[in-house]
Amino acid sequence: MSSKTVQSNVVEAFGREFVQGNVPEINEVRCLGCSHCVVLCKKLGPNVLDLKEGVAVVARPENCIGDGACMMACPTKAIFLMSRPTGKKATPF
Ligand code: SF4
Repeated sequence: MSSKTVQSNVVEAFGREFVQGNVPEINEVRCLGCSHCVVLCKKLGPNVLDLKEGVAVVARPENCIGDGACMMACPTKAIFLMSRPTGKKATPF
């Protein structure tokens, strides 16, 4: 594991500052397609998630403020991490 310094946007929302760049990772096996995360994210504003073929997907990563609300909404813990995609194959969880 290596670390590096990166430049990030800070978004102010709900009286807090969020560092943009991290996005949710969704485990397709655990996702029930209930839309809780999709609806909540849309209601809160960022509108990052869509339901595609019965599974939640990160459709607009550029909108994500990394607040983690989707993770809290998921009944099956299918949304596990808020991380920054590197383009390398992610280790399944
Ligand atoms: S809340 Fe969880 S189970 Fe429901 S659609 Fe989102 S990721 Fe899937």
